[in-house]
Amino acid sequence: MIIEADRLTDLLAKILEHAGTEPARARICAEHLVAANLKGHDSHGVGMAPSYVRWIASGKLKPNARAQVVHDRGAVMVVDGGFGLGQPVAREAVDLAIARAAELGVCCLALRNSCHIGRIGTYGEQCADRGMISMHYVNVVGAGPAVAPFGGREPRMLTNPYCCAIPRPGGEHVVLDFATSAIAIGKLRVAYMKGEPVQPGALVELSGRATEDPRTFFEGQARSLLLPFGLHKGGGLQILCELLGGALAGQWTMQPGSDRTFGAAVNNMLAIVIDPDAFGDRAAFEAEAEAMLDYIRATAPAEGVDRVRLPGDPERESLAQRSAAGIPIDENTWAQIRDAAESVGVSDPAFGA
Ligand code: NAD
Repeated sequence: MIIEADRLTDLLAKILEHAGTEPARARICAEHLVAANLKGHDSHGVGMAPSYVRWIASGKLKPNARAQVVHDRGAVMVVDGGFGLGQPVAREAVDLAIARAAELGVCCLALRNSCHIGRIGTYGEQCADRGMISMHYVNVVGAGPAVAPFGGREPRMLTNPYCCAIPRPGGEHVVLDFATSAIAIGKLRVAYMKGEPVQPGALVELSGRATEDPRTFFEGQARSLLLPFGLHKGGGLQILCELLGGALAGQWTMQPGSDRTFGAAVNNMLAIVIDPDAFGDRAAFEAEAEAMLDYIRATAPAEGVDRVRLPGDPERESLAQRSAAGIPIDENTWAQIRDAAESVGVSDPAFGA
């Protein structure tokens, strides 16, 4: 199934609205999910919508809850998401942090108790579009752990994403944004839906044996778990996300005493937003950064690589390609979206396609 972005956004917004979300919030969420697909991250695209609809129906996700400031100390702001729909809540919280960073030079935002906030790069881009540098440490709670720490073969955390974004004058920002697991659970789900194996080194059976079969993760009682990316280095970042996003910002980590049966994915995020103007000479920073980025991009490519890219380049390439050609959605994901639509009384000719 290939569908055009605007058509998909309208459909998603309608499904979320029928599930009880105010129109403006439903649209923010729909646009975020479709943008994730456009940028090549199907794992955090429209395939998440059926889960959101289910979590709203179960009363765990409060679709219209707003971001509420619960602690304000100048450059430090703590915002409670009230288990709201993550995309509008996180956007509101990050807007507050951007305004505060513009005033004080820096803002450290703790966003807690927000349901799944989706692709973290969205918030890096939100800051970068306003000329701000940002770093985002995020943990994931509300369900049991499924990712081992480096060197382990028992689950202790979830996929704890990290993002850092650097604004560039022309808008082609540097956006580094990834799960600290070798692959995001969403990508594992996409592979499972397509009946494809995953890359070696991402999954390990509970027995300790390596596997590439996503069925071992999703079918029946889980027989496998994810590993962190990049050995001890990725494993270290995974733990920092748990401590900074989870313990400091959210006061909710995956330790056994905390709620693992909440019934919806919850993200806690520590976002550090920095205004380069506060360093006195934005033009000098930009000139130095641009010269360095040119130098990196001009690196001779390794065998089998067409060119050296910057973080954010693959997303721009995918955006250009999918904006023109449409968004491919696999049959299983499409069937789940259709079921979610039906569950809230939405029918659409596209489901007959
Ligand atoms: P990934 O492995 O595809 O890595 C993406 C990052 O690597 C991007 O910054 C991209 O620009 C960069 N990149 C990729 N190829 C590159 C190349 N050849 N040269 C230079 N840079 C390159 O990402 P992922 O781990 O699959 O994560 C996917 C998404 O899932 C992310 O947007 C993340 O925020 C999201 N996520 C969200 C949650 C949550 O709980 N909300 C949890 C996990 C992941």
